[in-house]
Amino acid sequence: MTKLRLAIVGAGPAGIYAADILLKAERSFDVSIDLFDHLPAPYGLVRYGVAPDHPRIKGIITALRDVLDRGDIRIFGNVRFGADPAEGLTLDDLKRHYNAVIFATGAVHDAELRIPGIDAAGSYGAADFVSWYDGHPDYPREWPLDAESVAVIGNGNVALDVARVLAKHADDLLPTEIPANVYEGLKASPVTDVHVFGRRGPTSVKFTPLELRELGELRDVDMILADEDFDYDEHAQASVAGNKQIMVIDRVLQSWRKRETGQASRRLHLHFYAKPVEVVTDASGRVSALKYERTRPDGQGGVVGTGELREVPVQALYRAVGYFGSPLPGVPFDEKHGVIPNHEGQVVNPDNNEQVYGVYATGWIKRGPVGLIGHTKSDAMETVEHIINDLGNWWAPESPSEASIVELLESRGIRYTTLDGWHALDAHEIALGEPEGRARIKVVDRDEMVRVSRRES
Ligand SMILES: Cc1cc2nc3c(=O)[nH]c(=O)nc-3n(C[C@H](O)[C@H](O)[C@H](O)COP(=O)(O)OP(=O)(O)OC[C@H]3O[C@@H](n4cnc5c(N)ncnc54)[C@H](O)[C@@H]3O)c2cc1C
Repeated sequence: MTKLRLAIVGAGPAGIYAADILLKAERSFDVSIDLFDHLPAPYGLVRYGVAPDHPRIKGIITALRDVLDRGDIRIFGNVRFGADPAEGLTLDDLKRHYNAVIFATGAVHDAELRIPGIDAAGSYGAADFVSWYDGHPDYPREWPLDAESVAVIGNGNVALDVARVLAKHADDLLPTEIPANVYEGLKASPVTDVHVFGRRGPTSVKFTPLELRELGELRDVDMILADEDFDYDEHAQASVAGNKQIMVIDRVLQSWRKRETGQASRRLHLHFYAKPVEVVTDASGRVSALKYERTRPDGQGGVVGTGELREVPVQALYRAVGYFGSPLPGVPFDEKHGVIPNHEGQVVNPDNNEQVYGVYATGWIKRGPVGLIGHTKSDAMETVEHIINDLGNWWAPESPSEASIVELLESRGIRYTTLDGWHALDAHEIALGEPEGRARIKVVDRDEMVRVSRRES
């Protein structure tokens, strides 16, 4: 029987779902799948993006682990796909050992926000901050939390995560899996005011109601809203009446407007109709304020500038304006959208739109960095269907045996981790949390992750 040796690069939800769906799919050939990730632990942004105080979503890791625990997918962590064979695998390596590859490498970097001053000291990308508080091994252990007033630019869920983590008292994050250095850093933060800015009005936000509501439940944090933002025009009124999600968001915001404020030690301000125009800096080049232009509704659901400029003094600023994918050596890349160009997951050459045989994409690197974990499932289905139908067009590898890839990694001295390694790390993190009554304490250091996973200590 024909056998598909498939490499999947990226062990986030998209990669794991793709493997699972292919194994369960109706097909006329055998399948053997190797899943690679440059991190020593799997699960991608579920481990390193989803906020630590969202245990229900973090719990998706259990479902993903169940898939891996079935034992029919091999996983190799601490293996990077790139140009340098010393770090992992190249496209030529994959062609030598597999019939096809799915790239499920997601998006980890911040999209740009081109306004003057954005590169000033004290101006950060939300993705970097998220990586810090979620204990990503490739980010510095220290984060400068020295500002009393902070701006967060963006009106999506990542902006809410960042604003919430900044405004929340560190002790209220302690029951979560936050690493020790993150707790210490947040505990010492002098923050009193977090300002969230969105270009549009309250009925045009990209927040989801559950995540928004959570802000209002923070202990000792007042929600501050401006009356001028709630003078809805006809379009906004129609949105509230006609869209259940917006109706709930509006209800949450209106309930905060009625609250007594003034007693809390911290405040979370939501500024709508505020288009950032400049990060103002002081004489030493540090962030000192955010300058924004007041906008107003254009009557069709958009906004236009009013020309009125305002400033809010802040000493730090986070842009949460979206994520952006990174190019992979030898693989086509769409620089404008930060994705691998593809037709329903079949990678295409951007110059002539012709299929690049044997190469597929799924998840955020296929579709762009929008959508929830669940969306990566339907994504994977579409990609997998094409792999099955492309049977005659796969690569013909010289050395497809399962042993050959292990030999290759070992010959390069790559200290790869496996599923057994994840079990070891998982048990270790849970044991670290136990004496403190916490579910787990994450190991942050990459070497330590690898050593624990390889049962070397
Ligand atoms: C801050 C934040 C919070 C979020 N919160 C939620 C939430 O609460 N609920 C929800 O449903 N969704 C949430 N999401 C969205 C969710 O994380 C994504 O939908 C999902 O993770 C995308 O899956 P993916 O597998 O495509 O990418 P990823 O999860 O990013 O996985 C990609 C994997 O590829 C690996 N990789 C990348 N490059 C290479 C390489 N060169 N070699 C080897 N491996 C590589 C990475 O290490 C990573 O493990 C959140 C996203 C962010 C950014």
